[in-house]
Amino acid sequence: MKREPYKRVLLKLSGEALAGDLGYGIDTDTLDVIANEVKQLRDAGTEVAIVVGGGNIFRGVKGATKGMDRATADYMGMLATVLNCLALQDSLERKNVYTRVQSAIEMRALAEPYIRRKAVRHLEKGRVVIFAAGVGSPYFTTDTTAALRAMEMNCQVLLKGTSVDGIYTADPKLHPEATRFEDLTYMDVLQKRLKVMDSTAISLCMDNKLPIIVFNLRDRGAMAKVIRGEPIGTLVHV
Ligand code: UDP
Repeated sequence: MKREPYKRVLLKLSGEALAGDLGYGIDTDTLDVIANEVKQLRDAGTEVAIVVGGGNIFRGVKGATKGMDRATADYMGMLATVLNCLALQDSLERKNVYTRVQSAIEMRALAEPYIRRKAVRHLEKGRVVIFAAGVGSPYFTTDTTAALRAMEMNCQVLLKGTSVDGIYTADPKLHPEATRFEDLTYMDVLQKRLKVMDSTAISLCMDNKLPIIVFNLRDRGAMAKVIRGEPIGTLVHV
């Protein structure tokens, strides 16, 4: 399927992406690499919104399996995303990329509250908008947040950065014979139970025909190629 260049994109970064080889917490060198990639998009004139996860610090489900109240654990997970967003903001601004963090849970000393029209205005002015605290409710994920915010911001595509260069028939780290899909339908992803994003996020994209591109965050320049419409990673579409 032919790809198009994109003018406004939503980038989903998992918390783990920020942990780099540490496997937990925030690795500043990794953050620096990601910030450089985002800067390239801005320099090319692309409007960029970002949703950051929190799995490198805390996941609600994990807390709940240890006996915590699930909703409380999820709020802790949402707060973890805020730490990551502030770290990313710092890294981007040190590269002179203007940013705003908007949080779904109000914390005015740190971030603007989430206001859709204001976020759109920031994008139009060339600022990178980083969305913190997920959708602000427990039992959701930041993948679903990414799908929702992408639609609210009228983004043309959801870019999902991972540690492999697309969606494979099986985990290529465990199964070297696995092959990569160039493109897939949303239904394929759901029916084959491919671990791309959770089913709520995929369904939301499917219902609203929002394309998803899964690509390797560690490939330098991959993000810039994706927005130019080059056939990088795996495209998930109608
Ligand atoms: N979370 C939530 N509601 C949201 C988004 C996130 O409750 O709208 C919580 C949930 O506990 C989740 C954690 O925040 O496990 C971190 O987000 P996520 O697991 O999506 O991060 P990622 O896997 O992308 O690092």
